[in-house]
Amino acid sequence: MDKNLLAQREKLAAHVIKQLGRRKMAGSFAPTAQEARAEVLGLIPSPASVIRCGSESVGGLGLWANIAAKPGVTLLDPYTPGLTPAEGLDIRRRGMLADVMVASSNALTIDGRLVNLDGTGNRVAAMLFGPTKVILVVGMNKVVADVEAAYARIRTIAAPANNQRLAATYGLKNPCIEDGRCHQCMSETKICNLWTIIEGQSVKDRIHVVLVGEDLGF
Ligand code: SF4
Repeated sequence: MDKNLLAQREKLAAHVIKQLGRRKMAGSFAPTAQEARAEVLGLIPSPASVIRCGSESVGGLGLWANIAAKPGVTLLDPYTPGLTPAEGLDIRRRGMLADVMVASSNALTIDGRLVNLDGTGNRVAAMLFGPTKVILVVGMNKVVADVEAAYARIRTIAAPANNQRLAATYGLKNPCIEDGRCHQCMSETKICNLWTIIEGQSVKDRIHVVLVGEDLGF
């Protein structure tokens, strides 16, 4: 990665981590994906149950296999091949009581707010309440100026790209799949249903954001 861009991102990350701290959330910076992988694994206690959530950022790090292989860790994985939809839903429900959640955030504002948009809500629900520890892996490409910019980022990049990712698996028929643009549709298979903004935490450091210098996910 370009050294000037990395230097800028490291300085910006230091500011964002301070802002997260004001909101009783922890943060750390990993310059590379490889360092982020080690950081996340180090944050997961043992023994622990860990719920897997849909995340291109975490998947892109190749982390799920590492987490599943960590001694003492039980990975609750609703994406295990061969599960029926009912079995996948059951794991997601049990994931609400997991010790640890590992996921990403669709956007993070410079002043430390986490903004997300979900289809069914299990991911944002577990971010809000349930797992004792929430570890969010966020590429610096997802850091935006403010909440308005977060909405714009999610509508123009994250949501249409997630539609592309999920279209074949779930038979989605949403207009953004055709032209790459969000139409704020009311489609039967719409995956954009639940917005959340996390302003802060009541339990200090329950959420830990690992900022990554490299682009990660979308
Ligand atoms: S609201 Fe509809 S058109 Fe917009 S990204 Fe979501 S599914 Fe696609």
